[in-house]
Amino acid sequence: MTHPLLDLPPMSAAHFASIEDRVAKLLDTEQDVVIMQGEALLPLEGAIRGTAGPGTVALNVITGPYGQTFGNWLRDCGATVIDLSVPFHTAVSAAQIREAFTEHPEIDFVSLVHAEAATGNTNPVAEIGEVVREQGALFYLDAVASIGAEPVLPDAWGVDLCVVGAQKAMGGPAGVSAVSVSERAWARMASNPGAPRRSYLSLLDWKERWVDGGRKALLHAPAQLEMLALEACVERIETEGLEAVMARHASAAAATRAGAVALGGGLEPYVHEAHEAAPVATTLRTPPGVLASDLVTHALSTDPTLPLAAGGGALAASMIRVNHYGPNATPETINSSLTALGVALRENGATVDLEGARGAVEGGWA
Ligand SMILES: *Cc1c(COP(=O)(O)O)cnc(C)c1O
Repeated sequence: MTHPLLDLPPMSAAHFASIEDRVAKLLDTEQDVVIMQGEALLPLEGAIRGTAGPGTVALNVITGPYGQTFGNWLRDCGATVIDLSVPFHTAVSAAQIREAFTEHPEIDFVSLVHAEAATGNTNPVAEIGEVVREQGALFYLDAVASIGAEPVLPDAWGVDLCVVGAQKAMGGPAGVSAVSVSERAWARMASNPGAPRRSYLSLLDWKERWVDGGRKALLHAPAQLEMLALEACVERIETEGLEAVMARHASAAAATRAGAVALGGGLEPYVHEAHEAAPVATTLRTPPGVLASDLVTHALSTDPTLPLAAGGGALAASMIRVNHYGPNATPETINSSLTALGVALRENGATVDLEGARGAVEGGWA
């Protein structure tokens, strides 16, 4: 008896290439887009190890937990790393990037996370890209949490390595991911003696054996089920329209923010300025004396399917994340999430306005 998930014909190179082309369209890019056969950490690490080495001077912007990881990889490659840490309640500004270049004109690599699902902020990549391009540095961007939730435009912004994954706002699988690579980035890799070669981390292998060969033969058997899920997810986005998907995420962020403020009970948007808050997820600060992880556990006890989480590490004390991405970017999910948090706060002794929150979510959705 054949099984729909198991007894599939092998995926052809042409089919694989067509999925790459559709991902490239989402990024509006002419650069080479390579779909990597692993979760987004694979191209994130592969792109750093491919382009950074002992001669590299990297400006590593830390606006959440991933920046820390990128800094560690860069140091491991032998790069000199200048960390620029920004408090998690805000975004980094283009002016701060410019200042870093003034202080360290030798910077030739910039790593940045676009939107942070973990801390709820989003960075002005277009403006930062202008500064990076003026300085001629290579620009590496983690757009895993922004793709599908807000515009991601590597060509327009001068991003040389733009990594995306489907598991957040795209509402797709986590097991494959993609990176767009500029000519400059390919050249940097080709001249880097430390770049992974004949390795699962190697982007150069895909360049030499896949892209340059006209995408006729795959390097190894692809993660077929994940590739098909990626194709289905891109198809679903094409049907809804990328603009509409992004608008849904923007509405979700605005509604969550407005709803949380109206709810009261001491909850406050974690990111101070609304324009610095990510469309992919909204972070909320709990009032003094209320442990965020306890409040989330309490709220989830009524409905464990709600997209609520406490912040990671030390942030678990004071940060709640409403992960309103993908299929959860709906007014219903946001209402249920805020109601569950409101009930938990009320049972904790706080005064909350559940009706007011509901009205504010509706108004904020717009
Ligand atoms: C989600 C995410 C990733 C991928 O990491 P996972 O924790 O494995 O999902 C990478 N970068 C950013 C900014 C993310 O939000």
